[in-house]
Amino acid sequence: MKCPLCKAPMFEEELAYVVQLEDGHELRLEDVPTWVCERCDHTAVDEAVIVTIEDMLAHIDSFSHSEEE
Ligand SMILES: [Zn+2]
Repeated sequence: MKCPLCKAPMFEEELAYVVQLEDGHELRLEDVPTWVCERCDHTAVDEAVIVTIEDMLAHIDSFSHSEEE
């Protein structure tokens, strides 16, 4: 995989990924496989990983709402 910005090689690293929820909360996920550009530090997450995260968010939706009150 090459960086879309500077075309330098990217390497895969497990980083925290912060998701902004619709209600304004942030959800921090640990150890998400992330591509990192060795030159400009641009990061990218595979589409398959994002799909997995969105699927997971759909299932914990009721959990985040129960925190409200
Ligand atoms: Zn780059």
